[in-house]
Amino acid sequence: MIEVSGVGKQYGDITALNRLDWAIGEGEWWGIIGPNGSGKSTLMRLLSGVEQLSEGAITIRGVNIADYSRKQLSRMMAVLQQEGIAPVHYPVREVLEMGRYPYLDWLGRDSKDDVDTLIEGIMDKLELHDLAERPLDELSGGQRQRVALGQVMAQEPQILLLDEPTTFLDIHYQQQFMELVAKWRKEAGITVIAVLHDLNLAALYCDKLLVLRDGRAVGSGTPAEMLTAERIGYVYEVDPVVVAHPSNGVPQILLTRQV
Ligand code: ADP
Ligand code: MG
Repeated sequence: MIEVSGVGKQYGDITALNRLDWAIGEGEWWGIIGPNGSGKSTLMRLLSGVEQLSEGAITIRGVNIADYSRKQLSRMMAVLQQEGIAPVHYPVREVLEMGRYPYLDWLGRDSKDDVDTLIEGIMDKLELHDLAERPLDELSGGQRQRVALGQVMAQEPQILLLDEPTTFLDIHYQQQFMELVAKWRKEAGITVIAVLHDLNLAALYCDKLLVLRDGRAVGSGTPAEMLTAERIGYVYEVDPVVVAHPSNGVPQILLTRQV
């Protein structure tokens, strides 16, 4: 569904991405992993069309990303950042409705008749009813991230891009967030691409991983193929122990104390 061919991105003298080839199938959940500065966020900005490539091409369903209009792209693809949404003083229900902006015509009318049903359904799924009238800036980080997810759900994208969505969350909200995305994907068949810092979460939830180092792909494949002690050791400059998760066998990374 998404083809990345020979993609490079330059910022002055800095090569943030170098000759990247990558193919993403419809409905797959990819994780992008790699150390700080390896080009993960740059790749997300190129995929979402907010920045232009220096080299190569990205196509979605056979069409070059540069040939889609802003509105077409935002109907197809939603992006959720680390901090989700700015903590504005708007009630949660209105924040969810803002997700509909790509579908509004110049009079502010939605192309869908039953937006209220859609928003109610999202509030059911994310258990947001109790928060519906509360202003966003009075919620906790975990609650806000759930609202941010609701807003992108209202956008009804086919592709979801997540850039470190769980970084500021405690383990309860980390798991809740990943489970909600997993459920959404199962129900709606969306394609998910997520930059994840937590390798263990990535192994639990992603079908496949793209591993970046210094703007280059070091490999791509299943978590079992990618999360070997050798590869993780090389990419992150650590000396990890990889164990099989006791309940499902996926690789989990442990660090060893050095001193
Ligand atoms: P990651 O998300 O993996 O931490 P980034 O994609 O943010 O990495 O950055 C990759 C490299 O590109 C880094 O060296 C970073 O300093 C550089 N970079 C990213 N964005 C810009 C920018 N707007 N201007 C200049 N350099 C940038
Ligand atoms: Mg980043």
